[in-house]
Amino acid sequence: MKFLNNTPKGKNMKLGPEDTNHGGAEMASASAIPPSIDVPSTRIVTTSWDDGDPFDWDVARLLADRKLPGTFYIPVQGHHSDVRMDRADMLSLDAQGFEIGAHGVSHKNLARCSSRQLLIEVEGCKKRLEDEMGKEIRMFAYPGGRYNRRVIASLKRAGFTGARTTEMLARDVNFAPFSMPTSVHVYPHSRVDYIRNLLRARDLGRGRDYLTRFWGAENWVSLAKMYFDSVLNSGGLWHLYGHSWEIEELQLWDGLKEVLDYVSNRPGVLYLANGPIVDSEWTQYLSSEVCPPSANGCQQGRPSVQKPRERQVGICQAR
Ligand SMILES: [Zn+2]
Repeated sequence: MKFLNNTPKGKNMKLGPEDTNHGGAEMASASAIPPSIDVPSTRIVTTSWDDGDPFDWDVARLLADRKLPGTFYIPVQGHHSDVRMDRADMLSLDAQGFEIGAHGVSHKNLARCSSRQLLIEVEGCKKRLEDEMGKEIRMFAYPGGRYNRRVIASLKRAGFTGARTTEMLARDVNFAPFSMPTSVHVYPHSRVDYIRNLLRARDLGRGRDYLTRFWGAENWVSLAKMYFDSVLNSGGLWHLYGHSWEIEELQLWDGLKEVLDYVSNRPGVLYLANGPIVDSEWTQYLSSEVCPPSANGCQQGRPSVQKPRERQVGICQAR
């Protein structure tokens, strides 16, 4: 399938159809999909990082050294350490070609917010970040991975063009713009954690995929490599996400370096931030948003298991 009407929306369009094997700062700043991309065979790598913790700088350095892209989702108020990247930090990340996305004002569970709270969290964070950055903020990451149809409607009204979830084990480029999944979380999840995440996503194909092809992965590092190999062989989207403060707390830096080394500078791979992927036309192929009961999120920095009663509150059951 060919894209015929793809309109570059970013500032540094540097990719071309025959020029998709670069990594680098150029890739990190690439903000649009080259025209005439063959979707089924496209191999895309993206990364995203939540909470705006000062350790994000260490992540950014690892990405920049390997010429990898990244979207940094930053709440207005500091989340984990009560200190978040300031305006100068965000402008510097932006100048390096990284994307800045929104992550709410105070990292609330948006699915449980009142209408007024939701308005403050969604529109408030967009306006604040745009005032600080002097540019439009298009992407959003759900705090704690929690969302429903009401939250999606609020994001659309505010002018966001897409949102990333905390669903894992995905490698398909076809997804609804406000239900962008990930492939692997930088965290030592157990297999049970992955099964729980899949059950919440209610994606049978993804579950079958994991059980038949990736069950043997010994840890998150080998899982990340196996998913990347799969994308490399058959096309798709490889999306790594994480929290820098969590990586620091659990000392996951060596594993992260190993994975980033493994996926960087590969011929034939398109390296893009989250926004340009969502802006592409293939995410529009799905006519309805998918808003399953939320998966594990970053609110606690651990896979969170909701109480049964909570799980029903404001959670969209549609699929
Ligand atoms: Zn978060």
